Amino acid sequence: MEEDKQFNFNKFWGSPLIEPHVVFRRNSNMYCVYCGDRADTREHCPSRAFLNKPYPTDLPTVPACKNCNNGFSADEQYTRAYINYLHEYYKNGNIDIFSSGAEVRSENADARRAVGKFIQTPCGDERLMRIFTKLAVCHAAYEVSAGYYSQENTVTITRIAYGIKPLLEVTEWQELECMEMISDEILPEIGSRAFRNIYVVEMETKSADGAGCRMPMLFMDWVDVQEGFYKYQVYFKNGQLWVKMIIRDFLYCEVVMLLDTSSKMIY
Ligand SMILES: [Zn+2]
Repeated sequence: MEEDKQFNFNKFWGSPLIEPHVVFRRNSNMYCVYCGDRADTREHCPSRAFLNKPYPTDLPTVPACKNCNNGFSADEQYTRAYINYLHEYYKNGNIDIFSSGAEVRSENADARRAVGKFIQTPCGDERLMRIFTKLAVCHAAYEVSAGYYSQENTVTITRIAYGIKPLLEVTEWQELECMEMISDEILPEIGSRAFRNIYVVEMETKSADGAGCRMPMLFMDWVDVQEGFYKYQVYFKNGQLWVKMIIRDFLYCEVVMLLDTSSKMIY
């Protein structure tokens, strides 16, 4: 019998104290990443609303309670429709979308109205920000085992920002799309899945006496969930937890969280 020796990078190798908060396993004790209550449902991160068919079969999942899971669905539908309308207008130059037929779902009609206003005067949208925060919490829980809600952890959102490619300078977008240098930062917890996305690059530098030396630098790469449709990055920077997402190679968003480390568990 040949043994399967392949290392499973998606498996969680971290602390058993954290596991019930970040790993969905049927018939086990789990806690909702959003509210800390007992969890009984599986949350795909990202949710399929932001992906294209056929869906990837191995989507990351985290535990969530039914209330939270259902509580996001209207805003998620709204956000999906909002991004579709923005994409139609700015990417495909389709202006008919605002005059064509009635929308069946009220979320879609709301999104169409909101995008109509956005085109006149670009502004932030609270329902989108709520969903971006939700996505960020999931990605952070899955990737670095942090950012989820529990009695021991408090998470404060310190920044939510988003923008779309057609309204940004080319160089601005390129910068947003770079891998993040994390050499001087806190690394994710040992056993976190994020380790599969860290690259070590040897950089050639010169010291004061002119001798050359090689310095290893660490970079955090993107997790490509579906090419051209959804990718994200999670890393620590300046003492905060950053989550960046790019949806449809068109919309960029970032969510920054401050974690209360005073009550951090000891491993
Ligand atoms: Zn919940």
